[in-house]
Amino acid sequence: MSVRITFYGAAQTVTGSKYLLESARSKVLVDCGLFQGHKELRLRNWAEPPFDVEELDAVVITHAHVDHAGYLPLIVRRGYRGPVYCTAATKELLKLLLPDTARLQEEEARFANKRGSSKHRPALPLFGEADAAQALKQLRPLTRSSAAIVAPGVSVTTRCSGHILGSASLHFELDGRRVSFSGDVGRYAVPILPDPEGAPGADLLLCEATYGGRRHSSADIESELAGAVHAAYRRGGPLLIPAFAIGRTQTLLYYLAKLEREERIPACPVFVDSPMAIDATLIYRSFREEYDEEAAAILTAGNNVMMTSRTVFCRSVDESKKLNHLSGPRIIIAGSGMITGGRILHHLMRWLGDEQTTLLFVGYQAAGTRGQLIQSGAKEIKIFGSFVPIRAAVETISGLSAHADEAELVRWLKSGSSPARIKIVHGEPDAVSAMERLLRTQLDCPAAAAEDGESLEL
Ligand SMILES: [Zn+2]
Repeated sequence: MSVRITFYGAAQTVTGSKYLLESARSKVLVDCGLFQGHKELRLRNWAEPPFDVEELDAVVITHAHVDHAGYLPLIVRRGYRGPVYCTAATKELLKLLLPDTARLQEEEARFANKRGSSKHRPALPLFGEADAAQALKQLRPLTRSSAAIVAPGVSVTTRCSGHILGSASLHFELDGRRVSFSGDVGRYAVPILPDPEGAPGADLLLCEATYGGRRHSSADIESELAGAVHAAYRRGGPLLIPAFAIGRTQTLLYYLAKLEREERIPACPVFVDSPMAIDATLIYRSFREEYDEEAAAILTAGNNVMMTSRTVFCRSVDESKKLNHLSGPRIIIAGSGMITGGRILHHLMRWLGDEQTTLLFVGYQAAGTRGQLIQSGAKEIKIFGSFVPIRAAVETISGLSAHADEAELVRWLKSGSSPARIKIVHGEPDAVSAMERLLRTQLDCPAAAAEDGESLEL
């Protein structure tokens, strides 16, 4: 048999990344992501895995996001006991992400049982914390730049993809064939992380297309953030920022620290009110070898990359509750990023009805989330069963994306060696077709959309 690759997720959609790479001697799963979003997609997590998990020789993960790694506890629950390879930083971030994903699954099942909303009695979680703990035991770190043998006759090298700490594109050699996976590609010239590194040549390259057909705004993020801080300062109340714990919180902390160092914002207290965001920040701090030159230079100059002069970590519930009694200008960063849960709800419950408050969105708000409703001008919002009036000023900063837009994806593709062919993955159908059209005009190699369940032989 030659080399075969089969697409079991993230084909014509952005979640559930799973690609099975097979040679005569080995079976390797590349990424092991959960489906997220609409119910039909989420139901796919409950179907039998489309491959025999016990036949896998290895799993290799591009980065620590749920849609790329959140299905790991499930294959472990189904009996997979082999190695799971990823970069050292991804390994540390997965120690936060997988137990948290398992807790959410368990909470959902408990909630369904309480409400009687599941057809299944009792409703069971997809997997639990014990499965996540077992999955963590199977993690094996890959060193950057040197090739590692991950299964008989299969080697892989990683290159920085600039998306979140530890994120990588993966480049496999097996049976004389070379197959590359872009993973999620980040933006150029962002804080902390180096630019995405171009790929080596390959017989086949899988390229993501999350932002196919779209361009990021060219707004000056630092000026916009400084403006929002000043406006909040003038209003005199809290500046509440809902943010994802991994990635977005650290980027924000970087910008706030830089603006304060350059005296472009006043030194006001910054509270990070999320145990997961605190842990993620500590992991970001400990992986200095993953920093770009700018972040390294900040450290060399004796400054802190992600701390203002008055940054406070609120880990316990008590510390979080104490924030309720503060007055005056202050910045509170808390999850969840789309206000679907987390400690931000308590702050909004308390402060959203106050005209002195500023609520600042720094990330994408998916349709139907509280974040999107507030952003689109709702006059009140339901939190913990009560309607809270919205009198706070609501502001948005765009352009703080962890994903390359289509121009940056083309730049990334051109920065590496040209592959023999490209399959476009990880995008909604419109984004994938836009990317397909763009690549036809921009590159010399054939590029086509991957279909769900499709197999290719090389
Ligand atoms: Zn990602």
